[in-house]
Amino acid sequence: MAIKGTEIVKRLPEGGKKNCKECGLPTCFAFAMKLASGGIAVEKCPYISPEVSRELEDALAPPIRPVTIGRGACALVVGDETVLYRHEKTFVHQPGIGVLIADDELGEVVEDKIRKLRELHFSWVGKTLRADLLALQYKSGDPAKYGAMVKKALTAADCPLMLICEDTDTLLNAHALCEGRKPVLYPVTAQNLEKVISAVKQNPAVVAVKGAGVESLVHLTSRLKEAGIEDVLLDPGSKDLQSAVRDQTLIRRAALKQGFRALGYPTVAFPCFMTADKRREMLLAAMFIPKYAAVIVLSDIDEHTLLPLLVQRLNIYTDPRIPMAMEEKVYPINNPNAGSPVLITTNWALTYFIVASEVEASKVPAWLCVKESGGLGVLTAWAAGKFSGDNIAPFIRKCGVEGMVNHRRLVIPGKVARIRNELSEALPDWQIIVGPGDANEIPAYLPALVKSWKG
Ligand code: SF4
Repeated sequence: MAIKGTEIVKRLPEGGKKNCKECGLPTCFAFAMKLASGGIAVEKCPYISPEVSRELEDALAPPIRPVTIGRGACALVVGDETVLYRHEKTFVHQPGIGVLIADDELGEVVEDKIRKLRELHFSWVGKTLRADLLALQYKSGDPAKYGAMVKKALTAADCPLMLICEDTDTLLNAHALCEGRKPVLYPVTAQNLEKVISAVKQNPAVVAVKGAGVESLVHLTSRLKEAGIEDVLLDPGSKDLQSAVRDQTLIRRAALKQGFRALGYPTVAFPCFMTADKRREMLLAAMFIPKYAAVIVLSDIDEHTLLPLLVQRLNIYTDPRIPMAMEEKVYPINNPNAGSPVLITTNWALTYFIVASEVEASKVPAWLCVKESGGLGVLTAWAAGKFSGDNIAPFIRKCGVEGMVNHRRLVIPGKVARIRNELSEALPDWQIIVGPGDANEIPAYLPALVKSWKG
């Protein structure tokens, strides 16, 4: 549980009465308050003893630690979550989606999976969605073959890696090949824990501990913490849907509600090992996205299975308090010129991308004016008074579209046909045209509109 400033101050030098100002703050109390809110580091006070410093750092650490897998621009950050339910606040770091490659798979299958991980991506409401990591499984019984696959993955993709290997020596040899890449090592159990600790101290990696149930994870994470290793993922070893939901919820609750540090780490889930049925595997993955897994490993990906998962992940991990909104401005579509039609819509990202893609599909060059409307859709924005004649008119005057076109015709969404008269009054030099009620009518509507102007 987070420690309060009033508790921190009691642990400061002279019981919080030294007030020497060397930390840059006027009093120890001010330092304690800032420390509690995360605004200053413990070491800014040179008089705190190492023991108290450790105690405070521990108490101030997030209930679920952030863990970084991999290095550089492709690194995947997971964990650092603070709520049990997404509607309480927001989920922060979306789970990484991994693709499993076993070293006994055919060369072309391996190539194809690496290619898909590298190339398969989707543009969605202005974001690029894709899977995140390769999970390399030792299955062949031939350590040299596994090593060769790890080397291949290291050169073919710069994404984060997970090494899955039950044989400790082979796992640690593969780990040594990944120097500087900070892979995940899995499974780490009571049997190989000490060997893994000494290897990870030399060459940093994320340690994914596997237990037979939630309780068995506790002594593993406690030993890792004692050894100074905090980049940890938890696998409670759930075998089916029911136990997976139970275990994931138990871990999350223990970390957030009871402040139980030994379980305050992100979790990893393996739908790929829980079923051989591909559809069931996707359903399990879809369950793990809202139910707390931080890394989800799939046996394979393709556009039909990956896109729904990525969209679900985006929706769940989008802050519900912040609408997905576009910048207020005029967007050119299909290289418009001065004679091209002008349309207007609201700045909800989904509205924008639907309208923009339909205008694009119409092949008619056009200007799309996107008005700030609190990130709401057309009808909601109108009902909230954010998309009416009174506020559209000043936007049209200031957005610059009047200098971009040589006409004064503005197409408004058919759903708000009722604002036509008030907008005509507010923009007397513009002809207000009521467009289609649904965006999917735009590809037929726009060519006909432009033709009617020419005729
Ligand atoms: S440096 Fe330490 S002792 Fe001095 S005022 Fe700041 S918190 Fe207090």
